[in-house]
Amino acid sequence: MLCDGRIPGGGGSRATLVKIIVIGAGVAGLSIGWRLQQRGASVTVFDRGQPAHGATWASAGMIATAGELGAAQTPETEFAHYSSGLWPDFAKAIEQASSQDIGYVRCGALIVARNAQEAAGLTVWSGVERLSALQTLAREPMLTPDIAGSLWAPDEAQVDSRALGNALATAFVRAGGVLVPNETIVRFKVESDRVTSVVTPFASHEADAFVLAAGAWSGGIDGLPTGAAPPVKPVKGEMIAVVPPAGVAMPAHIVWGNGGYLVPRSDRLLIGATSEERGFDTSVTDAAADLLSSRARDLMPALAKWEVVERWAGLRPGSPDGLPILGRTSVDGLFAATGQFRNGILLAPAIAENLTRIILEQAAEIPAFDPRRF
Ligand SMILES: Cc1cc2nc3c(=O)[nH]c(=O)nc-3n(C[C@H](O)[C@H](O)[C@H](O)COP(=O)(O)OP(=O)(O)OC[C@H]3O[C@@H](n4cnc5c(N)ncnc54)[C@H](O)[C@@H]3O)c2cc1C
Repeated sequence: MLCDGRIPGGGGSRATLVKIIVIGAGVAGLSIGWRLQQRGASVTVFDRGQPAHGATWASAGMIATAGELGAAQTPETEFAHYSSGLWPDFAKAIEQASSQDIGYVRCGALIVARNAQEAAGLTVWSGVERLSALQTLAREPMLTPDIAGSLWAPDEAQVDSRALGNALATAFVRAGGVLVPNETIVRFKVESDRVTSVVTPFASHEADAFVLAAGAWSGGIDGLPTGAAPPVKPVKGEMIAVVPPAGVAMPAHIVWGNGGYLVPRSDRLLIGATSEERGFDTSVTDAAADLLSSRARDLMPALAKWEVVERWAGLRPGSPDGLPILGRTSVDGLFAATGQFRNGILLAPAIAENLTRIILEQAAEIPAFDPRRF
């Protein structure tokens, strides 16, 4: 790091021998680490457990700008559209670099109205088409016939987030990055208002810059001045997966409705998701499984005969205003990439690109996401 805070090699050129430590090997930390490593930085990613076994593993993997953000015109929606446009090339690059399939598919989504009141509330915007009940049923015949219509969002896509995590870890390591699992960052060492090293139970590690991408746990590492840690809170989400009886086909599209969603993923259908603030509890409950099943059966009655094959829970990184926390923190040398809440997979390529530019090219933060806004 230069005296004025810039990192050598900035201004668009390749950074040489800049040492960067990333805390957290989820989709955020691995994507950022991979991009920084490709740009010539020397990156080490630490995870307190196995890579990509946090929210990334639990995710439904939707790249769901319409389903999650709707017609709103906000900085997040703009960023989400940008990110979803990056996804096809991002997916291709990960698959090429890792030699692994991550299941990226632009399958489209139906946002279903269950009744006339919901149908009246469906707003059409650019890239989204309104369908009648009959048109909706023609696209997804398993839906209950008493739906009132839908929005068809053809650009919605999905990726297998578990395969994505593995592939990103491989791509990062193949690019020359160092991945250190099972080593928790417990404390930052701050000298003269600058983070100089991080401390684990085994050692202290110095670097020129540090990226805090520890998901829902990003606010819990000791050593920062008061108010400098990102105010991230865990938001629990439970999901289930079901498989069809022999000979029964999967739905073809992502389906939103009844406060939840159905995601066809090769041979299983993912049903999500609950949303609760329960601290760091990741227990799997019968109540959540029952709720998800009954919402799904109400949309597609035939699902009553499908077998539940997996139940799981994960913790989304929520922020006080629901927006990502992305860029420089109030402590020199420390950058944050967290607070993505329900959209960390969707936003991953844009977050990686944005933070890489902030670190290596001194680009400015998107004001709505600036970590120093709190
Ligand atoms: C049920 C559910 C469904 C979801 N569905 C979608 C979806 O369809 N589309 C979408 O875009 N998003 C979805 N999300 C949200 C998305 O999963 C998250 O926003 C995203 O995975 C966050 O990625 P991350 O890398 O920041 O966090 P994580 O994936 O949680 O990774 C953080 C990593 O940091 C590590 N870590 C924590 N503390 C430390 C420490 N002190 N030292 C070292 N390592 C540490 C953890 O072990 C973990 O591996 C969903 C989330 C849930 C829970």
